[in-house]
Amino acid sequence: MRIGVVGAGHAGVEAAGQARRRGAEVVLYSGETVLPYFRPRVVALAFGQVQLDSIYLRTQDWYREHGIDLRLNSPAVHIDTCARTVVAGGHEERFDALILATGASPALLAFARDLPRDVIPLWGVSQSLVIRERLAGTRHLVILGGGISGVEAAVYGREAGLNVTLVEKMDRLMPLQLGPRAAAVLAHRLQNMGINVITSRYAETISKAEGRLQVILNDAGTLTGELVLTTVGAVRTLQLFAQAGLRTGRGIIVDAYQQTSVPGVFACGDIAQRDHLRTGTVLSAIETGRGAADNAVAFAQSRPLMHVPAPIAPLRFKHNDLEIQAVGPATGDGLEERVLPSEGGIIYRCVLLENDHPAAGPGQTLVGVQMVGSHDDFRHLADGLGKPWQAIP
Ligand SMILES: Cc1cc2nc3c(=O)[nH]c(=O)nc-3n(C[C@H](O)[C@H](O)[C@H](O)COP(=O)(O)OP(=O)(O)OC[C@H]3O[C@@H](n4cnc5c(N)ncnc54)[C@H](O)[C@@H]3O)c2cc1C
Repeated sequence: MRIGVVGAGHAGVEAAGQARRRGAEVVLYSGETVLPYFRPRVVALAFGQVQLDSIYLRTQDWYREHGIDLRLNSPAVHIDTCARTVVAGGHEERFDALILATGASPALLAFARDLPRDVIPLWGVSQSLVIRERLAGTRHLVILGGGISGVEAAVYGREAGLNVTLVEKMDRLMPLQLGPRAAAVLAHRLQNMGINVITSRYAETISKAEGRLQVILNDAGTLTGELVLTTVGAVRTLQLFAQAGLRTGRGIIVDAYQQTSVPGVFACGDIAQRDHLRTGTVLSAIETGRGAADNAVAFAQSRPLMHVPAPIAPLRFKHNDLEIQAVGPATGDGLEERVLPSEGGIIYRCVLLENDHPAAGPGQTLVGVQMVGSHDDFRHLADGLGKPWQAIP
């Protein structure tokens, strides 16, 4: 039984390992030249906080010892989903089942297309190595996008002694994870570190003159700097899969078995769209990768497929005394934000409660937890998601 895994990020590596554990021969196609790595750490890599070899998911030997045929620098360029063949590196191979795990790509700012070494997305190892080189000549750093990676970059940049401006288009930082009050506390903490935080504004153009970049904001305000980092969203590249006849939407559409519209072809991680497309996380990539592998093997052995649970993944960041923890929606109609007691410092802890939750019934159900500057009780509360609030000790 042979399984082909396309894409060697968190989902692909987990799927490859699991398919192997289930007895399959596995080919793992990677579009990158370096060993698969822990993607969230590319921000730390860009700022020299970690070295490249410390962020690899596995050593080169691990793939060999576990019988996984890892093909670096071998992007799949054609997939035939009916014949279950993959063309990569000039060769075509046939498999008993396929797993697609190509992740997402960074959204790019069209107006900065001509400045590839000055306006760089925070995304992968290749970008981080260029950022690292460019930081040597940088005193003023502008970061566009106030999600978790923008916040993280701002913190490391400030720690490195740079003047840092962080710009977020929405009215608050980390708008997908934090409500207005938690985000305000986060902004306050960043400002106390000396980071210039700008919300409700966005870059409209960027130009370069005499080595300096000028970022013009939508309110006509101007920021100057030597380097601009962007973290303004993700896009899924679907052409390869649409051409292969798979149903696509904002990602490759999969069912509760992580199976695509073609039997025997599975998708997992950020590229897979199940229900609606949530913000991708490492944990959901790993869990859907494992589930896709179980079902790819089951398909190849003509066994029934198993339902893959949709994981709820908390987002965590900790660096020195800055801590952010969040799970569940940031806000929502009809949700009550209940502030939890906290002692000392600039700390915010809250839970989100939903009245008469359709699945949980009458009363208040815990649907979210947000903490800035603390992790007290976070894990305990996160474990209680979906349970009646009164029942959580
Ligand atoms: C800067 C940054 C910070 C983040 N921080 C966090 C965090 O703190 N916590 C968290 O949980 N999540 C975080 N995320 C999100 C998390 O990294 C993703 O959800 C996760 O990496 C998804 O895993 P994946 O395997 O689906 O995709 P990826 O990790 O993106 O891997 C997909 C791989 O497939 C390759 N590929 C693409 N096309 C092809 C092809 N045709 N052939 C072969 N290979 C191909 C790509 O090059 C890539 O290596 C962060 C993401 C970024 C970019």
